[in-house]
Amino acid sequence: LPLRNANLSSLKEVAVPAYDRSALRAGIVHFGVGGFHRAHQAMYLDRLMNDGKALDWAICGVGVMPADERMRQVLDAQDGLYTLVVKAPDGNLEARVIGSIVEYLYAPDDPEAVIEKMADPAIRIVSLTVTEGGYNFHAVTGEFMADNPDVQHDLTAGNQPKTTFGLITAAIERRRERGEAPFTIMSCDNIQGNGEAARRSFVAYARLRDPALASYVAETVRFPNSMVDRITPVTTDEDRDQVAKQFGVEDGWPVVCEPFTQWALEDSFSNGRPPFEDAGVQVVPDVEPYELMKLRLLNASHQGLCYFGWLAGYRLVHEVAQDRLFAKFLFGYMEREATPTLEPVPGVDLREYQHQLIDRFSNAQVRDTVARLCAESSDRIPKWLLPVIRRNLETGGDILLSTAVVASWARYDEGVDEQGEPIDVVDRLREPLIAAARQQRDNPLAFIANREVFGDLVDNERFVSAYRSVLASLHHKGAKATLEDLVSGLT
Ligand code: NAD
Repeated sequence: LPLRNANLSSLKEVAVPAYDRSALRAGIVHFGVGGFHRAHQAMYLDRLMNDGKALDWAICGVGVMPADERMRQVLDAQDGLYTLVVKAPDGNLEARVIGSIVEYLYAPDDPEAVIEKMADPAIRIVSLTVTEGGYNFHAVTGEFMADNPDVQHDLTAGNQPKTTFGLITAAIERRRERGEAPFTIMSCDNIQGNGEAARRSFVAYARLRDPALASYVAETVRFPNSMVDRITPVTTDEDRDQVAKQFGVEDGWPVVCEPFTQWALEDSFSNGRPPFEDAGVQVVPDVEPYELMKLRLLNASHQGLCYFGWLAGYRLVHEVAQDRLFAKFLFGYMEREATPTLEPVPGVDLREYQHQLIDRFSNAQVRDTVARLCAESSDRIPKWLLPVIRRNLETGGDILLSTAVVASWARYDEGVDEQGEPIDVVDRLREPLIAAARQQRDNPLAFIANREVFGDLVDNERFVSAYRSVLASLHHKGAKATLEDLVSGLT
């Protein structure tokens, strides 16, 4: 059956909203309704609504990019409904129709309608999943890029805004003129300190319009930080077919995801919020411990498995994680080296979290690729892994396994694998990194001599000696034998 309100009671193979959707009222406007928002925030609200809560916190989606027109067509035809399919590692699928999105506006069609929607006092949160690029800051300097042509367009008097910044700022001004309280701007993008990042961008944009407006935004609008986590791959045609065949739902754009989900959210709102904690969200005063846990355990472990994994011939993440040798190496890294650098994380058992991670990486249904994890290493290793090494150097903690990950990256960036096949290194620093890696058979420290990436680590004797020995082993014995030696010392 085609997915729409009128057919909900006839769908038998799938869970449907237990609440009366006609009683919902929009309280949130969300920019960037993609896969992740629909697997995460919209799902949490649907949970609350199924418990009879948050009925005045339904979502009005907004798209500003040309590609979002398709989302408008699909959601309009389906009364905002879509199917969320959770893929368990054993192949079991659990599907639920989510009903928390009640409206969708495609901004290029009618920017004024989007602004007026956000000016409605019923809207108390404007949330975002607009990707890292959506914040418009420069990758190296961190400055808001005022010369972006769309930003320039929005700043020109008389123009209808096109960007997230132009639209949201116009709504903030309108509410201020009408004496309405400002809404909260809640970023759910995967950026460390995402709330702070959003604040910097919105205040910078407002300053370009009017310094007084910038002060108003800085003083009255709250930007809670959050840590969000749920692996949500891009929807495929096979997913669509499966939803039709297995669950009897004709859905133009279902979402698939893993069972795990987490959201740690700073309790800082300008104008109220739904009782998120009742749906399993960790509403906390400070999200930093959660962020560090995720970056140093999840993201750094992804780095721990990807270069060794690629060199050992693996192409899919679950194949690496299911190899006991790799799992032992990753547990060793997490237990001995990463966890001692973390503060206790309220409400999280870190040992259980580590086991969960290996189970999540092992989920064969998700089909995440090793190549995806090997990309943009020079942005990732310095943010996720090097802080662990530095901290352990300071405290006298173990560094061998995390140093081995750095050496595996250096070996990978030689651009040729153990069978002599080329490796496609994807990195904005690709040229200098490959050039350095190719010198390291003669000059073993060539790769880590790059101070822009590694800082002064090359001056640390303990680090250098561990690094040299692992790199030599990678050259002489290969990735698998090197890992065997590394884990043989672990109990
Ligand atoms: P997606 O491609 O399905 O959706 C991205 C949405 O962002 C689209 O609506 C797109 O139009 C919009 N967008 C992109 N650039 C924009 C811009 N400059 N201005 C305004 N809107 C813009 O991607 P997704 O999987 O939903 O992921 C979106 C974000 O969610 C990620 O970038 C990440 O920060 C976060 N996230 C994703 C996952 C995941 O596993 N997919 C996990 C955690 C966090």
